[in-house]
Amino acid sequence: MASPFIEIDPAFVEKTVLELAAFGAVGETGVSRTVYSPEWIGATDYYAGACAAAGLEVHRDAVGNVWGRLRGTTGEKSVASGSHIDSQTPGGRYDGALGAVAALVAVKALKEQFGQPKRTIEAVAFCEEESSRFPNANYWGSRAVTGRIAPQDSERVIAFSGETIATAMREVGLDPGRIPEARRDDISDFVELHIEQGPILEQAGLPVAIVDAITGIRHYRGVIKGVQNHAGAFPMDIRHDPLAGFAEIASGLINTAHRVGRPAVTTVGRVVVEPNFPGIIPAQVEFTIDARHPDPQARRHLYAMHEDLMQEVAKRRGLDIDWNVMIDHEPSPSDPAIVSTLQRVAGEQGVPFMTMASGAGHDSQQMAAIAKVAMIFVRSKDGRSHTPDEFSSVEDIVAGIRVLAAGLHALAY
Ligand SMILES: [Zn+2]
Repeated sequence: MASPFIEIDPAFVEKTVLELAAFGAVGETGVSRTVYSPEWIGATDYYAGACAAAGLEVHRDAVGNVWGRLRGTTGEKSVASGSHIDSQTPGGRYDGALGAVAALVAVKALKEQFGQPKRTIEAVAFCEEESSRFPNANYWGSRAVTGRIAPQDSERVIAFSGETIATAMREVGLDPGRIPEARRDDISDFVELHIEQGPILEQAGLPVAIVDAITGIRHYRGVIKGVQNHAGAFPMDIRHDPLAGFAEIASGLINTAHRVGRPAVTTVGRVVVEPNFPGIIPAQVEFTIDARHPDPQARRHLYAMHEDLMQEVAKRRGLDIDWNVMIDHEPSPSDPAIVSTLQRVAGEQGVPFMTMASGAGHDSQQMAAIAKVAMIFVRSKDGRSHTPDEFSSVEDIVAGIRVLAAGLHALAY
C-alpha cells in the first residue's frame, strides 16, 4: 500500500527547533547542554510539555529519557523514534535535538491526520549521547533502554570536572539504583532522524539519505622506537629515526584509505614525539590511528593492510614498532526491511534521497540490541557539526520528517 501524503508544518518545526535551542543557548546559534545540567532540565521539561501539548502520554524513565506515547489499538510492540537532547560544549542546534523534535513532529502529524495507530508509536529524547560531560558515559540514555547499565556503573562514570554520574543523577532527583527500570523490551522498531554531520548529501545535491549501516571503527595506539642521537654528528644512512618511519607510515595509512575509496576513512589524529627537540633525532614516536569502514569484510581488509604497512616500514628502517587496539566496534547494519520501507516511502513522498552509511556513531547502534533499527539523515550545510555553525534548512528538515512520518505510518498503521 502506498503511503499517504503527510503534511508537515514548516513553521511549527522551525519554532520547536528554535525554542528547544534556547536551553543552553551560546551566542547566536550555539548550544551547550550537558546531561543533568540546569539547561538539560529546561530542555527535557520543554520536550515533555511539547509531547503533552501534542496529546501524547508523557513518561520520564529512570535515567531521564523523555518518552511521548501515542497508544495503538493492539498490544503489539512499539515503533519508536528519537535522538539525544544533550549537546557538545558548545555544539549547534541540530545534532541530536533535531531527531527528538522530528519524532515529536512526526507522531503529532500522524495523530492529527490519521488518528490512532494499530501499534503504539513513541517519540523519545534520550538524555545523553555526546559524552560532553562524562567522557565514558558511552550512550548513557539509549544504553539504559537496552538494559546494559547496572546501578553500580553510575559510580564509575566520572565527569571531566570529577563528579560521578550517580551524583549528577541524584542532583536532578533521579535514583541510580533504579537505572535497570529504564530497560525496555517492548520496542520492535526504532528509526532515528539525525543531521548528516558530513558533506556527502550537499555534494550530491540531495536533502535526505536513508542510512543502511553505522560504520565500524577501530582505534590503534602505536609506538615506534628508534635510536636517539645528535642531529648533526650522525650520518643519514645509519640512523634509526622513528620520526622518518612514522612519516612514511602516516602517509602510507592515509594513502591506503584513499586508494580503497569511500566509505573507508583513516585518520592519524595524535602524535607525540620524544624528546621533541630541534637538535635531536627522536627516540620514539607515539601515534593514534582511527580507521573506519561500514562493511565487515572490507573493514578487516583495511586493518590488515594498515598492519602490514606498519610492519614493513618498521622492518625496512630497523625500527621497533608496537601497537594495541584501544577501541574496536563492529559495523551496525540497519534492518534491511526498514531500509527498503524508508526508500519506498521517500519515493512516494516525492523526496529525493540516496542511501549511505553513517561515519559517526549514534543511539541507533545501541537500540539495535533490542530492536530493528534504521536512520534518516538530513543535509548539513558545509557538512559542519559539533560547532555552533551547524545548520540544516527547514525545507530539508521537513523533507526528512515526511520520510520519517511516512515510515512510521507504514510500520504502525
Ligand atoms: Zn548526535
